[in-house]
Amino acid sequence: NIKAKKSYTSIPKVTFNDIGGQETAKKELMEALDFIKDAEKIKRLGIRPLKGILLTGPPGTGKTLMAKAAANLTGSVFISASGSEFIEMYAGVGAKRVRQLFSRAREIARRTNVNNAIIFIDEIEVLGGKRGSHSGHMEYDQTLNQLLVEMDGLSIDDEVRILVIGATNRIDILDPAILRPGRFDRVVKVDLPDKEGRLHILKIHTANKPLADDVNLEQIARETFGFSGAHLESLTNEAAILAWRENQTRISQKHFLEAIDKVMMGEKLNRKPQK
Ligand code: ATP
Repeated sequence: NIKAKKSYTSIPKVTFNDIGGQETAKKELMEALDFIKDAEKIKRLGIRPLKGILLTGPPGTGKTLMAKAAANLTGSVFISASGSEFIEMYAGVGAKRVRQLFSRAREIARRTNVNNAIIFIDEIEVLGGKRGSHSGHMEYDQTLNQLLVEMDGLSIDDEVRILVIGATNRIDILDPAILRPGRFDRVVKVDLPDKEGRLHILKIHTANKPLADDVNLEQIARETFGFSGAHLESLTNEAAILAWRENQTRISQKHFLEAIDKVMMGEKLNRKPQK
């Protein structure tokens, strides 16, 4: 059985309101999802159904959140896997896992009595890198081929309609076959948040935290250039920990300011070499 890192057997609760900033990306993704919501009309007009959407952008910017919100909006069950889970030493294992992922999506949707399923594949570049570029690693090619076969086979008449959402921060190394019409038709860019976006994300992640009167999230948003949503979430958590260590019942501005340094330090210490 496929070892999905995080798998959800029902419709996620995350909505687009839980995602800060990313206004353009959210709008583009929601427009693409109209295809799913309006499937019957699409079918009558003979429009090619949307099978795949690719989310591109740096780590921690909310791509997984977007995919979950997409499932929430379209009433789809959500199944997720990561590209690296498909790569094995033995030939055929990756391709078999791809087949299992699709059949599992259908099975869960049927069991849940839902007509739509979203399959989310993070780090899709690991299995969708340019074919033939892995110097003899046939496994990669077979796995990618299987994914393309599964996607080509999707039909609007299927009992369970499947949409594949892929995520990557390396669109440059993707096999062009993946981006052909009928596969990942839409590419939605998810970037690091700007100041407004950072403020929005900070507000979302402090909504349930007790804040002191001196807290000025605008200042924090200004001073966190280059932070991703994941960094900002971690910043709000660090700030709360600092308040707790000082036995405070509310989080003050100084805790947030100190937390900025903590997150930046952590980033330096944990920085992994770029893949
Ligand atoms: P990766 O490429 O590393 O998988 P990702 O782009 O899929 O990252 P997510 O897993 O969606 O990023 O984000 C990680 C966490 O960071 C989220 O669970 C959330 O707490 C926070 N986060 C990231 N982006 C946002 C955002 N735009 N609004 C609110 N929270 C965010």
